[in-house]
Amino acid sequence: MREIILVKYGEMALKGLNRSSFEDVLLRNIRYRLKKIGKFSYSKAQSTIYIVPEAESDEAAGALLAEAMPRLKKVFGIAALCRALTCEKDFADITEKAIPYLADALNAAKTFKVEAKRADKTFPMKSPQICAELGGILLEKYPHLKVNVTEPDVTVTVEIRDANAYVHALREKGAGGLPVGTAGNAMLLLSGGIDSPVAAYMMAKRGLRVTACHFASLPYTSERALMKVEQLCEKLTPWCGSMAFYCVPFTEIQEELQRNCPEEYFTILMRRLMMEIACRLAEIEGCGAIITGESLGQVASQTLNALQCTDAVATMPVLRPLIGMDKVEIVEISRKIDTFDISIQPYEDCCTVFTPRHPKLRPHLSDVEEAQAEVDFAPLIEKAIAGADKKVFAQHISETL
Ligand code: ATP
Ligand code: MG
Repeated sequence: MREIILVKYGEMALKGLNRSSFEDVLLRNIRYRLKKIGKFSYSKAQSTIYIVPEAESDEAAGALLAEAMPRLKKVFGIAALCRALTCEKDFADITEKAIPYLADALNAAKTFKVEAKRADKTFPMKSPQICAELGGILLEKYPHLKVNVTEPDVTVTVEIRDANAYVHALREKGAGGLPVGTAGNAMLLLSGGIDSPVAAYMMAKRGLRVTACHFASLPYTSERALMKVEQLCEKLTPWCGSMAFYCVPFTEIQEELQRNCPEEYFTILMRRLMMEIACRLAEIEGCGAIITGESLGQVASQTLNALQCTDAVATMPVLRPLIGMDKVEIVEISRKIDTFDISIQPYEDCCTVFTPRHPKLRPHLSDVEEAQAEVDFAPLIEKAIAGADKKVFAQHISETL
């Protein structure tokens, strides 16, 4: 009994003219996610992608599908996915195979219904007839069941499509959103904290390919702190796909700041310098936006005035997907994407090392600009960009699921 995976796209199906390029990107992302676990063949038709395991035996095919499903659940652009049984387009073959195939699902249920989708209109039976006849047969074979058309425990679906018929009973929710790459590229400011990895996840969900940059202040910050950030990148690859990462040396800039600028402006000046460098790296990488993990009012550097002062040096839109979220909501997502345990490891960040005792809560742009003018940062910025170290994080074969 050979099974395949049917992938349904949600929102994407509405994208009209863009649809075929959306499908192509989704298919490419799916292939990338599955290439390390084995061979599959792929096709698409009628808002569905068909993933067929290429294996010698049904058991080996089943094992491939079991590995593929959790990976696919992290691919954006997929609304739902189901393992489905392939049958001939013949009602007798469908019932004969469906009865044993559905045993686990139906034995665990009290109520069910049958749904039929007849994409191939030449199939001799109409949908209501397929539902009624298969429903009747299943009731006979599984006499503990009752039909419930409004809220069944299990919905058995029969799809009559071009080449084959398919039967499935377990439809699983996909990650939703849009395929990574369909909305362009963006540069994430990635600290080692809880928020910025969540921001990456949220924007990748809207179709952005994410590149990250991290500002490190060795020796004030440790190698361990940097490794933590790299671990976060790795954790994000199941959602974001492969991810380029820049580590920017920030020590000299911070030391200059500390020597020459008023302490109360340290944080906001650091933010502005990070933003300027991030925008430059973003241009090099062909990004159209910056992403940060800021949330309004969370800390002194995240007041409206402070955000205005940072945005004044940005050369492209700054996306802040967490801006209206509470910490508990952010933590919930970070647990879901499994970055929380890494984020809470107690390694210092360059910002915490240089935190002023009394940061300005409502900095005025003109005062901030004046404070920054104490130092000619331009050559230091060039040096930081030239010294940035780029790495690419690809998906891991040993990825924890
Ligand atoms: P996070 O949990 O993401 O660190 P936070 O609540 O600790 O956020 P801040 O440390 O003020 O807040 O940082 C706000 C945002 O600035 C971060 O979400 C991140 O986008 C960016 N950022 C802060 N520090 C760094 C850094 N060292 N390298 C890159 N980006 C940073
Ligand atoms: Mg932080």
